[in-house]
Amino acid sequence: MAKRRLNQQQLRRIDSNQQQRGKRVAQDSPSDTGAEAAPISATQSEPLAGQELGPEVPGLVICHYGQQLDIESHAEHNRGTVYRCHQRSNLPPLVTGDNVVWQAADDNSGVVVALQERRTILSRPNAHGDQRPVAANVDVMAIVIAPLPQPFGNLIDRYLVAAESLGLRAVILLNKTDLLDSTRDAFIEPLLELYKNIGYPVIRVSTKSNGGIEDLQQFLAQQTAVFVGQSGVGKSSLINSLRDTSRLPDDMPDLQEDAAVGELSAGRDKGTHTTTATRLYHLIGSGDLIDSPGIREFGLWHMDQHQLIAGFIEFKPFIDKCRFRDCRHLHEPGCALLDARDKGLINPERLTSYFHTLSTITPA
Ligand code: GDP
Ligand code: ZN
Repeated sequence: MAKRRLNQQQLRRIDSNQQQRGKRVAQDSPSDTGAEAAPISATQSEPLAGQELGPEVPGLVICHYGQQLDIESHAEHNRGTVYRCHQRSNLPPLVTGDNVVWQAADDNSGVVVALQERRTILSRPNAHGDQRPVAANVDVMAIVIAPLPQPFGNLIDRYLVAAESLGLRAVILLNKTDLLDSTRDAFIEPLLELYKNIGYPVIRVSTKSNGGIEDLQQFLAQQTAVFVGQSGVGKSSLINSLRDTSRLPDDMPDLQEDAAVGELSAGRDKGTHTTTATRLYHLIGSGDLIDSPGIREFGLWHMDQHQLIAGFIEFKPFIDKCRFRDCRHLHEPGCALLDARDKGLINPERLTSYFHTLSTITPA
């Protein structure tokens, strides 16, 4: 909204400037209007056509919202400086985490001219069902849980399916270990044991007591992570504990201000929808983390049946071994999956969780 007000203010100013000029000289050429419009373009980070651009250098997208990209320079002479950029129209939509080639204009603005190959891409369907990229080059999905709010249902499993289908490493991150007591241990410990047995790493932390934070930093070193999980488990608190503020640009707002940034951007789209900034934070110990409300929920929307069963990685040795090729693993004779469950090779809760998720993705 702030952006819209700004535009209207500027338009008024331009109007009044033009009226002033009109009084001074009887001249009303389009280039005149263009000259006045320049500051608007500049505040919207669109370098003017014909503006001198610097050499092509590498950079990293550390924030995107709407059409706007913040590029952290990886050039020798200005490494770490952030430039507000737009992208050449021949490029696909760029997202936070993208490695790019860009050119500086003046006033800390610039233009992105090329996209480097992506290792991974997180995308999610928009309102029309089209896949829209959200973040690039993520390596790790940290699924944050806590004793409170209590982990529910098969939420963890849905996130794991998403991680597997994207080729991300997954880790279960138990936060708020300071809140553990014998009652909470009774449901948390078996849950953690279940995922450890499947092969997922488990890290225990507390942002309150700072316990385990160094282990987490080590785990995330040299990687780009996303934190997913229920609201209230402590994702923002974790990010704040892990952030390397010495590497932050001066004007980087803290997490609480992100919503405001989203609103600002939505103003450009006449407020029809809210676009929220997706940001990359550098972490102490050389890791990076990408965060936005969309990413926090990543994996909680549509998945297909094939992705789903492939995401239950311990089922893999059994799914092709059923007697019937089209086995649904419900009560068919010779079902290798049910057999594995009966022999204790597959946890019954995971099988139940699989069927529950399946029922949410296939029409009844
Ligand atoms: P988010 O919704 O996942 O981002 O969670 P927040 O970071 O906003 O945290 C939710 C609440 O949990 C806040 O009141 C935090 O102060 C609290 N919290 C975060 N980490 C811890 C922790 O390690 N121990 C305890 N006891 N509370 C925590
Ligand atoms: Zn079967």
